[in-house]
Amino acid sequence: MDHEPSFRESVDLMVDRAMNAIGLDQGTASAIKSCNSVLQVRFPVRIRNKIEVFTGWRAVHSDHRLPAKGGIRYAPYADQDEVEALAALMTYKCAIVNVPFGGSKGALLIDPAQYERDELELITRRFTLELVRKGFLSPATNVPAPDIGTGQREMAWMADTYKQLQPTDINYIACVTGKPVHHGGINGRVEATGRGVQYALQEFFRHPQDVAAANMQGTLEGKRIVVQGLGNVGYHAAKFLSEEDGAKITAIIERDGALINEEGLNVEDVYQHIIQHHSVKNFPGARFEENGKSVLEMECDILIPAALESQITLENADRIKARLIAEAANGPLTYGADEILHKRGVTILPDAYVNAGGVTVSYFEWIRNISHIRFGRMQRRHDEMRGHQVASMLETITGTKVAGHHRDSLARGADELDLVRSGLDDTMRTAYQEIREAFLEGDGIQDLRTASYVVAIRKIARTYLDVGVY
Ligand code: NAD
Repeated sequence: MDHEPSFRESVDLMVDRAMNAIGLDQGTASAIKSCNSVLQVRFPVRIRNKIEVFTGWRAVHSDHRLPAKGGIRYAPYADQDEVEALAALMTYKCAIVNVPFGGSKGALLIDPAQYERDELELITRRFTLELVRKGFLSPATNVPAPDIGTGQREMAWMADTYKQLQPTDINYIACVTGKPVHHGGINGRVEATGRGVQYALQEFFRHPQDVAAANMQGTLEGKRIVVQGLGNVGYHAAKFLSEEDGAKITAIIERDGALINEEGLNVEDVYQHIIQHHSVKNFPGARFEENGKSVLEMECDILIPAALESQITLENADRIKARLIAEAANGPLTYGADEILHKRGVTILPDAYVNAGGVTVSYFEWIRNISHIRFGRMQRRHDEMRGHQVASMLETITGTKVAGHHRDSLARGADELDLVRSGLDDTMRTAYQEIREAFLEGDGIQDLRTASYVVAIRKIARTYLDVGVY
């Protein structure tokens, strides 16, 4: 391959490998791969006494399960091809982690940095109006979430706009996920994608055979990690991996350069520096490299691209030195780069699995919203009481007092955050084990990406076979 396909073509080519490996018939393959519908809207908003026209998209790749789910990004480079590619990834992602949703994605062509808060609110509310009116946003059919350039704030505006338009919908708050906790969100959603990246890597390192195949050994402790993008996903992943697993973040690549420290960077300090100075420049205790992208090629154990798509391409794939790449961003490797790295024996944990923590916890949030109750509310005190009973029983049987800290840990009922983390951890572990099983089948399933898509396609094809196409 000597030219780069588009992002959407890249996803399709990667999916084709899996479809060919399992010999899926052409008809079912086309039905699964095609994007069901794409909405493009253009709408005017009065900004600073001038009328500006904005363009946005919402693509529904699949609705074999409803609602269709996927983030909305605000970016100056957004286009329909990208939105369709990301919607397709959502379909496969949900199937891989057993989240019963179809795949969707949206984007608004905008550079949010150029607008004030109130202006962004106006634009977001107007965009929401377009999506609701055209049937592309509701708790039952299509549920957005945050992505690049959007966050809790935008989700709260969207939910509020939907509520005003559909005041009789008792489930209105479930029309978007990733909301602030005091506005129907769920504890643990903000960190969820980064947390999922951590759980995915932890599970990988529980399989010594897989670790050895990636030319490494041992655990995450002391592993040298390079992270690209210290936004929502990259920050949380890097923070948890360094603070909880003992990994060393040896480089952080941001849009205006990279910071390098072989002894390991303090992620929280770098993050606070960026918030304060809007740049990584002049961070004390690290070497600054102006050409940030070149740092992707630095010697390390694990590379975590967590910024944008198409960062590792035909141009730089040969020079990547990482043994393992965990795709925290969507589509950070092009199809050509993926082929080169596969031939070179680099292990790749694919995006459709690695960054599925966000949609998993969005699923929990949606369930919380439609069931109108916080997880743990009914059983927490009951669990606490049972814990005390067990401690007292132990004291009676043994005649020894149970130490205070043991009693406390026995009697602690799980709160929502505990349950969310437990559900996410279980999801990421189970999904890896399913992917691994598919990989071990061999027969054309040569890498974990193909194995992930095999897992997803088998589940999606099953729904077509069970329900039929009409
Ligand atoms: P974000 O906007 O919070 O963070 C992106 C970060 O990348 C920012 O810090 C930005 O400065 C940095 N960046 C931008 N251009 C860069 C460049 N050229 N080089 C280095 N750094 C650059 O976005 P996010 O939500 O963290 O999303 C990151 C990726 O993860 C995207 O591909 C997104 O689709 C994917 N993702 C996000 C979620 C989620 O829950 N937020 C879920 C699944 C996948």
